[in-house]
Amino acid sequence: MRSYIIIIMNKQLKFFNTMSRRIEVFTPVSPGIAKMYTCGPTVYNFAHIGNFRAYVFEDLLNRTLAYFGFNVTQVMNLTDVDDKTIRDSRAAKLPLKVFTAKYIQAFFDDLKTLNITPAAVYPPATEHINEMIALIQTLMDKGFAYQAEDSSIYFSIDKFPEYGKLAHIDRENQRSGVRIKNDEYAKDSVADFALWKAWDEADGDVFWGSPWGKGRPGWHIECSAMSMKYLGRTFDIHTGGIDNMFPHHEDEIAQSESANGCTYVNYWLHCAHLMVNGEKMSKSAGNFFTLRNLLQKGYSGRAIRWVLLSCHYRKKLNFTFDALSLAEESLKKFTELFARMRELPDDRERPLPVLEKYDSDFYDAIGDDLNISAALAVTFNLQREANRWADGGELNRAGGENILALFRKFDRIFGCLDVDKTTDEPTIPEEVTHLAELRLTARKNKDWAESDRLRDAIKTAGFAVEDIPGGKYRVKPL
Ligand code: AMP
Ligand code: ZN
Repeated sequence: MRSYIIIIMNKQLKFFNTMSRRIEVFTPVSPGIAKMYTCGPTVYNFAHIGNFRAYVFEDLLNRTLAYFGFNVTQVMNLTDVDDKTIRDSRAAKLPLKVFTAKYIQAFFDDLKTLNITPAAVYPPATEHINEMIALIQTLMDKGFAYQAEDSSIYFSIDKFPEYGKLAHIDRENQRSGVRIKNDEYAKDSVADFALWKAWDEADGDVFWGSPWGKGRPGWHIECSAMSMKYLGRTFDIHTGGIDNMFPHHEDEIAQSESANGCTYVNYWLHCAHLMVNGEKMSKSAGNFFTLRNLLQKGYSGRAIRWVLLSCHYRKKLNFTFDALSLAEESLKKFTELFARMRELPDDRERPLPVLEKYDSDFYDAIGDDLNISAALAVTFNLQREANRWADGGELNRAGGENILALFRKFDRIFGCLDVDKTTDEPTIPEEVTHLAELRLTARKNKDWAESDRLRDAIKTAGFAVEDIPGGKYRVKPL
């Protein structure tokens, strides 16, 4: 069987750079290497699928860079100390580390469910306090920061004339000398922002020593310090949801460029929000679904990924259950096509299908600022044509293999076609498996009441547990 070899030359990768508001050809600092920093989760709760829209977009970016032959290093931080993690750990009466550990583990489980490519490093903020203190010290030494009456350290936006260049805020609206201590604020509250927050009672036992007294870092300095440590003073790409652009990324630029005297990041990419009935999905609005919520309703991780992926990252995406059902259907049809391609007759006489154009068009689509709609159009065209060729008896096994090879290649971008998956087994959420394991132990201990309670909990999650010979069990969706 002839292997399918595709040679693509002169394909360009272009991105919309939030900084210039233009599409630009991607040219990395070091040829062949792409370094990117992605703002990670604030681990005070389970991430919702709005957050995962951002992480899936970043995964698409990572996969696209690799598709174009770049050696990618992605760093994603874990915000495990900030206003919200402290507030909620105290409400839960748990030490901060214990409280955040649960959500960090859940986050990693969710990344796996969505088949998100792991980053090279996931630095937690609490393990980089020294780097943050050193960076603040540099800003103090260079005169960009000052200590206020409340003992906190603030960045003086007046000292950085380019402040506002990312979010396009004009100088007139800036109120230097007016201070804001909160991590999050709107554009009309632009002001000197906190680098180091002096301890107050609301912080409880969360504090570190510093040259300016006990306290904790502000959220923005966390990302400046950690990105610099792992990626250098100037790196290629920085991303996040559009809500991260201001103040978070604007403040990161101010801190990093003032301290280092060089450009912080060359390309800024931001994704639009996942919406529900015209409103941003968010914890504070209460209109959110976690990944677990959707798995419990019986949707698969790959269908959820498909929905989050299938709309261009700079367009708002309205979340609906209909879209999820449609995604399950679409993926099923791909699985059927792949099975069909594997079952073609081994007849040497038939010519191989001409696939170069699909391959080339796919590069053009995804290389054009991650134009997923165009990439999907190529993929659906190939699906339709492959079925048509098979209907007309035009394909043999070798042809089918070539088609499968191209879908396998496309799936390096999509990460959910699962070309070599041969069954449509339902995904069982990890927590349901965990409950089933606990139930097995309860049964072994003859604790029938506990076993019944766990069976009910599994049922509430939408699954049935069945005992099978050999002291084993089987879990099925209801
Ligand atoms: P957080 O945990 O709040 O710091 O958010 C983590 C990431 O999710 C950030 O990149 C946010 O910009 C992003 N994000 C939050 N809500 C949404 C949403 N509804 N749609 C898309 N991205 C979001
Ligand atoms: Zn960040």
